[in-house]
Amino acid sequence: MTDVENVKHMKWWGWGVEGVAFHHDDKPNFAPFVRKAVGLDLSQPAGSPPELSDLKVPRTKALAPIRKALAAVVGEARVVVDDEARVVHTYGKSIRDLMRIRAGVLPRVPDAVVYPADEDEVAAVVALAAKKGWVLIPFGGGSNIAGSLEPQPDEPRVIISLDMGRLRLVVDLDEDSGLARIQAGAQGPDLEAQLNARGWTLGHFPDSFTHSTLGGWVATRSSGMQSDKYGDIADIARGLRMVRPEGVVVLRPLPSTSTGPSVREMIIGSEGRLGVITEVTVQVHRKPAQREVQAYFFPSFSAGLKAMQAINESDAKPSITRVSDARESGFSSQPARPRRASPRSSPRAS
Ligand SMILES: Cc1cc2nc3c(=O)[nH]c(=O)nc-3n(C[C@H](O)[C@H](O)[C@H](O)COP(=O)(O)OP(=O)(O)OC[C@H]3O[C@@H](n4cnc5c(N)ncnc54)[C@H](O)[C@@H]3O)c2cc1C
Repeated sequence: MTDVENVKHMKWWGWGVEGVAFHHDDKPNFAPFVRKAVGLDLSQPAGSPPELSDLKVPRTKALAPIRKALAAVVGEARVVVDDEARVVHTYGKSIRDLMRIRAGVLPRVPDAVVYPADEDEVAAVVALAAKKGWVLIPFGGGSNIAGSLEPQPDEPRVIISLDMGRLRLVVDLDEDSGLARIQAGAQGPDLEAQLNARGWTLGHFPDSFTHSTLGGWVATRSSGMQSDKYGDIADIARGLRMVRPEGVVVLRPLPSTSTGPSVREMIIGSEGRLGVITEVTVQVHRKPAQREVQAYFFPSFSAGLKAMQAINESDAKPSITRVSDARESGFSSQPARPRRASPRSSPRAS
């Protein structure tokens, strides 16, 4: 699949990008652990990934006049109708999604994927879709597990997937209020890198952080690993901009309000049904000078839970506490084989 303006997508058949995989060569106890825990023999070669050419992808309904109209807004190279792009934009990444996609269950896929550059282009695509009666599905990182990207199997209208990947900038950071305006298509590592470079962090780390976007987090009311300290996305998102066919909804980042029902609350978690979020004003925090991780082993799971409760009731304010059962602890604490130091070898991530 062609990368449009360096927008990286996950592979169509699994989690993560093509070419990046988990290896356990440097963890000698890992294979015996997996065999004991779930009876899987990792010494057996894994099956090959499925081939895209084995899929029966329904033909696109976005014929030349439709593509031309979209290209007039975003440019020809940013209207993509190849099978791989359309398949990648069909599902999220739940186990159910991955099983269906690998089994070739594709009753309906988007007819075209469109990559706008900014809010004006988003607005023009939304207006076009509204005028022509097309279905428009905003796409962030494609990591959801709730079926929220999936077209209706019997949808007769043209379906356009609106990929937000080109809107990925931290637009502004006000160091007095700690409010940052960030474009909705920014993925976790990208936006953190931009904030970190200035000494700040958003502090929102869902497990899907690497491949999900700020707009997706707001649209799915996401919660992260460090939400105990920094809050859920519903607390972090102070204001936003959302394109609807009638115009742009602008919610200013008010510190608090005591009037009427909250439109902001209505938009957070709306999964793309109310409009396309183009920008979010978020509360950011100074990056901590130091990070300290402490681990304790308890004789039983319930003893671990009691300790969690005691921490919660104390004045200690860890950014995350997590209790894992014996199996999960065994999985995550597999020792790596010590490496011999060599002036010419560089460390390898595993
Ligand atoms: C391995 C794994 C771990 C996960 N861990 C977590 C976790 O820790 N916490 C958590 O909350 N979730 C988690 N999830 C679920 C998922 O990552 C979240 O729902 C995430 O917020 C989705 O973001 P996304 O950018 O990938 O959105 P997408 O999957 O692309 O889209 C999700 C929905 O939001 C809409 N949408 C996306 N962008 C916009 C936009 N700009 N404007 C309007 N609508 C938009 C889409 O139309 C769709 O309805 C996990 C999923 C996986 C597969």
